[in-house]
Amino acid sequence: MAHSQPSVFQPPIFYCPYPVYLPMSHKKFATLAVAAILIIVVAWFGQVTNHEVGNIVQQQFTQQQLLLTRQAAVGIEGFLEERTVLIEVLAEEVADESPENMTSHFMTVYSRSRGISSIGFANSEGVIVTGYPVEYVAIGLDLYATKKNASFDRARETGETYTTNPLLLVQGGIGSHIGVPVYSDGEFKGVVFATIDISTLSERYLADITPDGHGQVYMITMIGRSLYDSAHKEMIGKKYIGSFCTNDSSYAEILSEQMQETEGTGYYFDESSGEWRIVAYTPVIWYNHVWSVATSVPASDVGALVHSVYRKQILFIAIVVAIILAGGGSIVLIFSRWNRELENEVERTTEDLKKSNIKLESANTKLKELDRLKSEFVSMASHELKTPLTAIKLSMDVLRPLSGSEKDIRTRDELFEIIDRNIERQNRLVTDLLDISRIETGTLKFNLEPVDLYNIIRESVRSMRGIAEREGISIHTDLEGETLVIAGDRDRLVQVFVNLIGNALKFTEKGEIRIQVRVVARHPEIRVSDTGIGIPSDELDRIFDKFHQVNSGLTREAGGTGLGLAICRGIIEGHGGSIEAESEVGRGSTFVIVL
Ligand code: ADP
Repeated sequence: MAHSQPSVFQPPIFYCPYPVYLPMSHKKFATLAVAAILIIVVAWFGQVTNHEVGNIVQQQFTQQQLLLTRQAAVGIEGFLEERTVLIEVLAEEVADESPENMTSHFMTVYSRSRGISSIGFANSEGVIVTGYPVEYVAIGLDLYATKKNASFDRARETGETYTTNPLLLVQGGIGSHIGVPVYSDGEFKGVVFATIDISTLSERYLADITPDGHGQVYMITMIGRSLYDSAHKEMIGKKYIGSFCTNDSSYAEILSEQMQETEGTGYYFDESSGEWRIVAYTPVIWYNHVWSVATSVPASDVGALVHSVYRKQILFIAIVVAIILAGGGSIVLIFSRWNRELENEVERTTEDLKKSNIKLESANTKLKELDRLKSEFVSMASHELKTPLTAIKLSMDVLRPLSGSEKDIRTRDELFEIIDRNIERQNRLVTDLLDISRIETGTLKFNLEPVDLYNIIRESVRSMRGIAEREGISIHTDLEGETLVIAGDRDRLVQVFVNLIGNALKFTEKGEIRIQVRVVARHPEIRVSDTGIGIPSDELDRIFDKFHQVNSGLTREAGGTGLGLAICRGIIEGHGGSIEAESEVGRGSTFVIVL
């Protein structure tokens, strides 16, 4: 090879046609980074592979050119060989013929064999005596007189066929002569010579293998003279070195290889077209002549071929990468959606847990409060139960040693009264406790029946009137109409009014108690008012709590358990009604019941 192989192709370049300025999350960025790395790796791998593929394609292409020249060379050699043998056979055939008869033989061979442009006969004196076609044969020419006798002499002396170097023909084109000596009975009779038209064989064997585009086929002799050139017809007969290239050009090196009977391939830089060309050449050997058939193709043709392979490769890689990215992207999307759904689920569950936690906490607080109230209730109830028992026990202790004296009898009567009062108090307390417990557990039963509310009020007032009179307090009732029938539990309602009147008496030093009934919006509204000490506004709601008593000297003096109003509210609410207190400290209180 005359030159090292140049790079005939450009590796493909990957580039992004516009900048991407997108705000993106870390996850997206990571996905894109992985995709970019993947593309770079695939591109790098593709480039390395492309380089190898390029080299292989180039080598195969060059080998293919070489094969073409080999095929042409074999064809040309066969053609020349065939024509030579034909002329030798003809020489034998016409050995005994007269020159006149020879002509008809010549005509037959000429018309049947393409590529022979003329056939003639020079007699033993070196004078051309006959030939066909007559216009291309110089009949009558004396070779000795014109000093063209060198080949003729050699044939006579050696008795062998000779061939001449290609030369320009009278009829145009370029050709070689074949000369065959003729002997008859061992006597030299002359030489049959034929002209081989090289243009014919070139057209037949070389034109066909001319590559498309800027490809070229040419054939040169051992001294570099052009016998055929598909691209430069004007060069035929001329020498390449000197015309086309200088002695020291890269092309001259390839030409010199060609002239040395070698087969091969090479690259040279063609300055006229400014590009590299690939040359493949094979020798043609015919007698003592060595010619060389060559193809010359621009290296860019191979580049185009390689690039078409690249394009297909890149398309394939792009499709594969797209499939990988699309597939990977979908998987990432599916997973991130699952992840999001999972996160939402976890968030929801956490939220639910938080809520139930808060509920649990508040339930816990309520339970603690209930527990505290229960303890408070137990301690207060125990205290309240213990007080009368202590009073009874003490009275009994005093009673026991008493004698029958008058003084002792008086003391005993007082003590019995104390015991009686305390048993009564204990009894009331236990009854109240039972009531409150039933109210709270919802087991207090109401015996609802049509009852006259006024009757109930009058009965309650009657039962309290004695105490009222003792206290010097009057009780007035202000009732609309004669009767007011409602559905209620008589005894429980009496219990409510007795309690309210009792409280009014307890907390009123002087003045009066008024019970007023009105029907408002078809509902009886009962107001129990007194002119007593009143209740501070911040206590108005709390007095309905069990055991709650307003902290005042009068309350302590009055005794009581603090359960009365809680029971009243339980009974009234059990009737589907409501009870509230209104008051002004120092001026009295009013308890309003709506049934
Ligand atoms: P008790 O009368 O046994 O103390 P109650 O539940 O009936 O319990 O009453 C609770 C508290 O409400 C009383 O201790 C008292 O301080 C206040 N109270 C009730 N009625 C009146 C009233 N008419 N005037 C002023 N204070 C009252």
